[in-house]
Amino acid sequence: MENIRQTVKRVWGYDTLLPLQEEAMRAVLARRDSIVILPTGGGKSLCFQAPAAAMGTLTVVVSPLIALMKDQVDGLTTAGVPAAFLNSSLTSDERRLVEDNVVRGRYHLLYVAPERLVLPPCLGLLRRAGVACFAIDEAHCISQWGHDFRPEYRQLRVVREVFPDVAIHAFTATATPRVRADIATELGLREPEILVGSFDRPNLVYRVRRRTDRLRQVTEALERHRGAAGIIYCIRRAEVDQLADALRRLSYRAVAYHAGLADAERRRAQDDFITERADVMVATVAFGMGIDRSDVRYVIHAGMPKSIEHYQQEAGRAGRDGLPSECLLLYSGGDFGLWRSILMAEGLPAPGAMQKLGEMYDYCQGAACRHRFLVEYFGQASRADTCGACDVCLGEIAVEDGSAAMARQILAAVTEMGERFGAGYVADVLCGAKTARIAEMRHDRLDAYGVLRQYSKATVRSWIEQLEGQECLARGEGEYPTLDVTARGHRVLRGESAVPLLRTVARSVRQAPSRAARPAVPPSLGQMSDEDLFEMLRVLRRTMAAERGIPPYLIFSDASLREMARERPTAKDAFLQIKGVGLRKLQELGPRFLACIRAHKDGSAAGTSPVP
Ligand code: ADP
Ligand code: ZN
Repeated sequence: MENIRQTVKRVWGYDTLLPLQEEAMRAVLARRDSIVILPTGGGKSLCFQAPAAAMGTLTVVVSPLIALMKDQVDGLTTAGVPAAFLNSSLTSDERRLVEDNVVRGRYHLLYVAPERLVLPPCLGLLRRAGVACFAIDEAHCISQWGHDFRPEYRQLRVVREVFPDVAIHAFTATATPRVRADIATELGLREPEILVGSFDRPNLVYRVRRRTDRLRQVTEALERHRGAAGIIYCIRRAEVDQLADALRRLSYRAVAYHAGLADAERRRAQDDFITERADVMVATVAFGMGIDRSDVRYVIHAGMPKSIEHYQQEAGRAGRDGLPSECLLLYSGGDFGLWRSILMAEGLPAPGAMQKLGEMYDYCQGAACRHRFLVEYFGQASRADTCGACDVCLGEIAVEDGSAAMARQILAAVTEMGERFGAGYVADVLCGAKTARIAEMRHDRLDAYGVLRQYSKATVRSWIEQLEGQECLARGEGEYPTLDVTARGHRVLRGESAVPLLRTVARSVRQAPSRAARPAVPPSLGQMSDEDLFEMLRVLRRTMAAERGIPPYLIFSDASLREMARERPTAKDAFLQIKGVGLRKLQELGPRFLACIRAHKDGSAAGTSPVP
């Protein structure tokens, strides 16, 4: 048998393995049960696909998502690994063909939906065919403590009963010990090797901003990623429709996705996004599971998610290919209130739901490194004090100097005004505004009048909101949303407790790294920049994907195209050195990519069409 690294190089074109991949593969080859916990983009698939390709026997993969199975199988087939799937999307003829091939030992990997796998005919088929091992993808679906419990996963316990001697390998991105224990018990694992990777995603830049003007803030971010793919999450369906419309009016290629749309519309939106006819997916959290597009360059939350777990999952869809990507979260105190009322309306909210909401809000309001916050939230130690990849460490936000004094001034103003006014009016008074109402109420004679006049009203309002968020102020129950000082607020007033107030530093966000990667010296006239060549290669990728009826990211990843644009190989052996180019892809896809690179290498701008 070829050694596993040779297989990885030959089939997938990778010279190196990602953290823990080697250990995970060794467990598979040793036929020892295992639980592998790696973050999204950690390269879980390769952990069972490479051993399957190396051994050449049948690995059965259980996966909950029918759409994903087809993509995975298409990806494997394109790389030259015989694979197939069995699920309800097949006609009975197609299914029989696959079953025949299974018995004949034609496949190295077979993807099966859990509810089908546990049926006696399927178990019988696999017994006859002989199975080398089982890989259970998204294994957290087996646990009620995970975020995506699926009852059909519970039935997987028969696998161990029917195949007592076949090793079972579980893969998930959910790290909690409780979920892990459930996986081991439910699958009947025997002394599994447990491999837990780091949950930090160093290629993601995290930013949090108070939402002031949603459309402007969103388009500013989109401009950092022109033409690249991204997802914008909204809390409510109506916001999805509005924002997608607004973006389309501004000529962005945006589509909308939420559970209120007809199936066909949803499918079209998803299809447009996957095949690169659309760049921007505006969606509720209903969108995402089952999307394997690895070149998502940004995920924007237009509203705050209800837990860090949700945030991590959704934001984690950015940058699966390991290239720099941005996660921007826009929030307001209103989001917190909205979620609270949604959770209350559910009657009895799930245990811990309110606490998780509070933790999410803490994240938004925090002034500590975002990477560190997230990593520590998930129970891991963080490596460095500053990450260089979040708004805090990049110096984009700052704790206001003297913020304890300002918090007291705001709270004192609310008290002085008898707790009978709303945030906007209080801010006017603090800023010393000259309005008719203030004159009429004679509030220009208050001690509080104008004490914060050196700050803009927007800044003062944001501080009032932050004080609400930190439960120093609360909105009254009455008809008008007047502000009251809470018990905590009184402690701050007495100087017994302090709260930090944050302000976004007026300094523009650094350009996205992909743009910054342009050469400092402009290319000489007629010579094509890496960026332009990359765009040409993307067009070619799209064309070849359409010809094959598969998503573009299965042809080559962005990471591979970037390397091609940089290295500009013109011969086969040089092309094979590109990360992500295996032998099959060299043969099948290489010639046209090489021709495209050759045609544009010397900037012989002749023929700007990428298709020779
Ligand atoms: P996960 O399922 O853990 O989210 P995937 O299996 O989808 O991750 O892999 C994420 C990305 O990383 C894919 O684009 C994959 O091609 C790439 N990848 C996997 N292993 C390697 C490797 N050893 N070297 C480079 N890229 C890799
Ligand atoms: Zn940081």
